[in-house]
Amino acid sequence: MTEVLTPDICIIGAGSGGLSVAAAAAAFGVPVVLVEKAKMGGDCLNYGCVPSKALIAAAERGELARRSSAFGVTTMRPAVDFAKVHDHVHGVIAAIAPNDSKERLTGLGVRVIEGTARFKDRRTVVVGDEIEIKARRFVIATGSSPALPRIPGLADTPHLTNETIFDLKQMPEHLIVIGAGPIGIELAQAFRRLGARVTVLEAARPLAKDDPECAAIVLDQLARDGIQIRSGIEIARIESTPPKVRAVLKTPSAEEMVEGTHLLVATGRRANVDGLDLKAAGIKVEPRGIIVNRGLATSNRHVFAIGDVTGAHQFTHVANYHAGIVIRRALFRLAAKVEEDVIPWVTYSHPELAQVGLTEEIARQRYREIRVLRASFHDNDRAQAERETRGHIKVITMGNGTILGATIVGAHAGELISTWALAVQQQLNIRAVAELILPYPTLAEVGKRAAIGYFTPKLTQPLLRRIIPFLRRFG
Ligand SMILES: Cc1cc2nc3c(=O)[nH]c(=O)nc-3n(C[C@H](O)[C@H](O)[C@H](O)COP(=O)(O)OP(=O)(O)OC[C@H]3O[C@@H](n4cnc5c(N)ncnc54)[C@H](O)[C@@H]3O)c2cc1C
Repeated sequence: MTEVLTPDICIIGAGSGGLSVAAAAAAFGVPVVLVEKAKMGGDCLNYGCVPSKALIAAAERGELARRSSAFGVTTMRPAVDFAKVHDHVHGVIAAIAPNDSKERLTGLGVRVIEGTARFKDRRTVVVGDEIEIKARRFVIATGSSPALPRIPGLADTPHLTNETIFDLKQMPEHLIVIGAGPIGIELAQAFRRLGARVTVLEAARPLAKDDPECAAIVLDQLARDGIQIRSGIEIARIESTPPKVRAVLKTPSAEEMVEGTHLLVATGRRANVDGLDLKAAGIKVEPRGIIVNRGLATSNRHVFAIGDVTGAHQFTHVANYHAGIVIRRALFRLAAKVEEDVIPWVTYSHPELAQVGLTEEIARQRYREIRVLRASFHDNDRAQAERETRGHIKVITMGNGTILGATIVGAHAGELISTWALAVQQQLNIRAVAELILPYPTLAEVGKRAAIGYFTPKLTQPLLRRIIPFLRRFG
């Protein structure tokens, strides 16, 4: 017999976005049903942010040991036991998993249903033959999956994606990474630093969504690490003769072969809409994902869509941000809307690359007069002490000093961007940062140094340049 449920909110997908909506709605005492077809926690916990950052942390430990002699500390050459790296990665997932578990959500008052959800009509979702859900509002939070490019031979060749790479228990000898976006770049560097040979193949520009000047510093570090990055290439086909795999590149003269032992495909994401029967619910979809307005409503006004499935900036914090907007709209009827221009993102390479607000390129397209303020990690005393002098900050303001955006490339850029995320979101004037009192010596002073630059355009003059090092300590 079919069980009919009539909650206020039914959420499809228990990843970053769905869990946030479910937990918040339950906290307000609203009846909630959450449907998940696979692992609680979705991509971020199981195949994305968490395992990738755990892998990067392991790679960093090795790198720190290799670099320690410059500090007068000599350690043995680090040895990597990749099976133990695998255990570390899965140990981190296991440590975080209880936060996203069915038990925790049930404890909060959420009815969690394990199964695949699909729309029956505009107001009904079914899970198998047994459960029918007629909710006041639905939230689609079904995320995204790796998109495979149409390269002849790829589908028939064993390859890794973010869904399988963290299961490796043996270090790949030579990893070929197709795609130089944040996911490809982060994993390429982590595997290289753990000891694999790595070649990255990119059809366009690596880290294309980031400020090219700052991205170049990351790419230069990757090259110094020994990673081969081939950009602007076209892959004619993929071949394999186990245990080898080959990417055959088209070149003007002849074909060129890149041979490795493992292939990772990191060429973007496709929205998870298959099997939802969106047509039955009157929900419009385009190739990048479900179409939503700035209030995240779909073409069916009873249904919201959030996170990766909308094809917007595909990050966990964006899925959480979307969740907050849906809660405000669905529960409190507030007119909350997505502000794309205040969303930060970070590529967790070394050095890290962090962005919030407008890049210089976009700001120049939108405003007649902008100021670009810079400061280098090289001129920062803490960076010198830590031997982390590669990197800089670029702050973009309007002519009147309103902060439009910031890009940071350098150690801990992902932490340092927070100040600028606040500044951009609150539309602060650069004076607010220039007048901040910051503890000395900290990397955050790089940002303050850039902000002071707004008021001292003449600091480029030779005499003043000579006294800057003295001024620096007195901020
Ligand atoms: C390698 C990698 C590294 C990343 N690193 C970062 C990072 O450092 N920082 C960051 O912010 N973001 C990162 N991301 C992106 C981040 O993982 C995603 O943006 C985030 O998980 C999106 O959340 P979501 O709720 O939209 O979808 P998901 O977390 O993917 O959750 C969707 C859920 O819906 C379920 N589902 C799908 N269809 C159905 C159905 N019909 N019925 C029931 N359930 C269904 C799925 O099983 C899944 O559990 C990374 C991604 C990858 C791949």
